[in-house]
Amino acid sequence: MNIGQVILVGAGPGDPGLLTLKGKQAIESAEVVVYDRLVSPEILDLIPEGAERINVGKASSNHPVPQEQINQILLDKALSGKRVVRLKGGDPLLFGRGGEELQPLTQHKVPFQEVPGITSAIAVPAYGGIPVTHRDFCSSLHIITGHQQAGKPLDIPFAPLVKTGGTLVFLMGVSALNNICEGLLQAGMDPDMPAAVVERGTTPAQRPILATLSTLPQTAREETLQSPSIIIVGKVCSLSPRFDWFDSLPLKGKQILVTRPRERAGTLSSRLRALGADVKEFPCIETVPYTPCPEMDRAVSQIHTYQWLVFTSPAGVSALMHFLEETGRDVRALGPIRLAAIGPGTARELKKHGLKADLIPPVYDGAHLGEALCEAGPTGRLLILRAQWGSPALTQALDRCQLSYEDIRCYETRYTCPNPEAVRTFLKGERPVVTFTSASTVRGFVKALGEMEHSHILAACIGAQTAAEAKAHGFSVITAREATIDALIQRIMEGEEYGTRT
Ligand code: SAH
Repeated sequence: MNIGQVILVGAGPGDPGLLTLKGKQAIESAEVVVYDRLVSPEILDLIPEGAERINVGKASSNHPVPQEQINQILLDKALSGKRVVRLKGGDPLLFGRGGEELQPLTQHKVPFQEVPGITSAIAVPAYGGIPVTHRDFCSSLHIITGHQQAGKPLDIPFAPLVKTGGTLVFLMGVSALNNICEGLLQAGMDPDMPAAVVERGTTPAQRPILATLSTLPQTAREETLQSPSIIIVGKVCSLSPRFDWFDSLPLKGKQILVTRPRERAGTLSSRLRALGADVKEFPCIETVPYTPCPEMDRAVSQIHTYQWLVFTSPAGVSALMHFLEETGRDVRALGPIRLAAIGPGTARELKKHGLKADLIPPVYDGAHLGEALCEAGPTGRLLILRAQWGSPALTQALDRCQLSYEDIRCYETRYTCPNPEAVRTFLKGERPVVTFTSASTVRGFVKALGEMEHSHILAACIGAQTAAEAKAHGFSVITAREATIDALIQRIMEGEEYGTRT
């Protein structure tokens, strides 16, 4: 049997965006992933569906899987021919025992590679507004483990460290914080030396604590400091109040649940994350094109009998493209037909296929789309391609101006319910926000989570219809000023102070 290989990959310090491109590629092509506790769920989501996941997560002083056993797992899996990714927090070779895991591999001639990661020792201070070096303050950086073996004194050469005048960064130092500060003071460091701790750095839960060397232990106790945290001692800490960009992000720490179908959640989630939000994706609906779809087949075969093709969602566009491909056609089958899109998201989906929307209404909902089509004054029939629960507002508007149309159901919206327990826990936070980008996402959410009180949840809705559905289910509601993702994000940033205007 062929020998597999092991790729040691650094997952970065917490923010999933800090995984390297090479690390991402390795995970996406893994057959087995062996990972630690500090690796973020978004990174674990990159693991291919068929791959084996082995959690060997270690908590401090609690080693669920002993190191020897981890080494053995890596060896066994690689020897059985698998492509194994060993995923570790930060950089695998900095206090990560990566070296120990490589040794048995070399003995058995198992090929391996290393993909360095962004280490918490540098990234966490950076997210806390602390540059680890600065020409005005220091000329060296020292990264030290504060891990203390039970019953043994701390083995840190405090005197030479203090002498360097460099920035000192301690990892695994929460339990030994008092001893570390005491050791530095005894070695002659100025008690007023700026010092900081950054807890859960680079994540939405990041909490920086600023103090001085002499006050840090007490401040940390008062703030009930927890792991993982990084201790930074040095003049550079004084820059934090000026440089703390991450904690100043407008949605920092705000818990937001994104309920769009998985294939459409990405942009909204990543934009909210970039604004500091703690985002969880909960795709409680999925859209599935009808296949076969005899009605669509008939309509496309007679496409020249229609003057307009009308879409009320990007999913409708995807369903048509899927249909064309499945039936051995392409966009040329549509001929010179005119195209109407309910809003910019749908127009963008058309553009992906080289098609330009001829009409987008000024307000992005069914009623306005209908009115805009009436104003366009078509002389021929309209073909509407939408979901099985399409809103009647569009067809009512068309009926009013006596337009002739055919309304074809080309895809179905199904409710899904991945991991509801994790979502319930997430929603226990302080005033969580749930984004709803259609009335069906509201219904999907309510169905997935069953009976629960909704009034403590702030529903951020894309438009009036969605907001009406959310209100009917007892949510507190805010509504975007226009039905776009931009406006929805803007409205979330304004928060509730602007009232629950809809
Ligand atoms: N190899 C890792 C470090 C492993 S040791 C790296 O390069 O980052 C584990 C220690 O890293 C923790 O005890 C803590 O001190 C630090 N650490 C890791 N992630 C952290 C985070 N998000 N915030 C604060 N400290 C973190």
